[in-house]
Amino acid sequence: MLRRQAARESGARTYARALPVVPVRARGLTVEGADGRRYLDCLSGAGTLALGHNHPVVLEAIRRVLDSGAPLNCLDLATPVKDAFTTELFRTLPRGLAENARVQFCGPAGTDAVEAALELVRAATGRTGILAFTGAYHGQTMGAPEAFGGAHDVRVARLPYPQDYRCPFGVGGPRGAELAARWTESVLDDPNSGVPRPAGVILEPVQGEGGVLPAPDAWLRRMRALTEARSIPLIVDEAQTGVGRTGRYWAVEHSGTVPDVMVLSKAIGGSLPLAVVVYRDELDVWPPGAHTGTFRGNQLAMAAGTATLAYVRENGLVGRAAELGERMLGRLRELARAHACVGDVRGRGLMIGVELVEPEGEPAGGEAEPGGREAVVGGPRPTAPALAAAVQRECLRRGLIVELGGRDAGVVRLLPPLTITDEQASAVLDRLADAVAAVAGGVRSGA
Ligand code: PMP
Repeated sequence: MLRRQAARESGARTYARALPVVPVRARGLTVEGADGRRYLDCLSGAGTLALGHNHPVVLEAIRRVLDSGAPLNCLDLATPVKDAFTTELFRTLPRGLAENARVQFCGPAGTDAVEAALELVRAATGRTGILAFTGAYHGQTMGAPEAFGGAHDVRVARLPYPQDYRCPFGVGGPRGAELAARWTESVLDDPNSGVPRPAGVILEPVQGEGGVLPAPDAWLRRMRALTEARSIPLIVDEAQTGVGRTGRYWAVEHSGTVPDVMVLSKAIGGSLPLAVVVYRDELDVWPPGAHTGTFRGNQLAMAAGTATLAYVRENGLVGRAAELGERMLGRLRELARAHACVGDVRGRGLMIGVELVEPEGEPAGGEAEPGGREAVVGGPRPTAPALAAAVQRECLRRGLIVELGGRDAGVVRLLPPLTITDEQASAVLDRLADAVAAVAGGVRSGA
């Protein structure tokens, strides 16, 4: 199968290249390959599986729809299944948005909801440009509206996303975040910045694909204040961070920020494709048909999503993600102290990243700031994508599936289900520690 896949599928294959696994059965954290091997899956469908694979409440919800004789695809018609999903979704939304929110069901991928959000703020403000941040990932759609004559021409200006370890200002800590915020403020207010007032600002509260970079709460609050004062809608892309993943139901809740627009996907479909955009109702200037799409009525995904949203809410999984994530980060920091090739460990809740660096590489210039990260002393060493890939391979050999992320794919990412037990978390960390030790040993011996 793997040979046939390589011969027949496109060169754009991603996960399939680094993870030559043919999954045939899965439950919770565990995936069984066609070769009978079992793996602990910390990729979780790229952060989709809040409850792991085939959780009983999700299977039951899907079966109930199948057995009820309900139509499976309903475009955007009202159905009892959709009604239940919307009710549960609104129940979870951040206070301040929940009371006056509207939802638009989009095509089923995260990128569809991002497109909808951008279209919405352009329609609501009459402006065209968008501000986004370095390292952002929002999806891969391109050009379809242009092809049918929609003439969208979205111009995006990019501003620095704050990060401690590779702080663009070389200082990290609260000062680095403050400088990043000031840069955004000056671009918004300088009539000669070359960036006209945008239709919206879009950001991830924790950059996932960008390398697991949690936005400092103070920075997020600054982004909220800056955009609010200038009547610029703030779009928060929670495709990957939502449904408890970061230790709050929605990651914006860490900072108390209430966005104007939220992009939701991945976990909200309970492992099946579903994406929505939720927004303050004053933004709802859309005439009928302004945003459309065939696959906006996936009843199985809505049922699976309702079951997932409710299960996370009712079973303390949000607090569990926060508490277990902290403990896992603690153990990983010990790993970083033991191995020079582990440059940084970071994350929020169960969204965790371990950045591999060249142990002998020249540290980048940079000054440590009192209160900033200790690791900034002397600056970070160059990122090491080859070592990260080696760790991913060694993990797989030990029966652990992990993802890579970051600008150069130098970050090993863990996105376990929120249902992971303490014993499973220990097994994941043991396997990862063994994999890192094997790679570090190879580096030391020059292999
Ligand atoms: N936004 C974010 C923050 C994401 O992480 C992703 C996917 N990794 C997307 C949007 C795009 O989602 P999809 O791949 O479903 O289009």
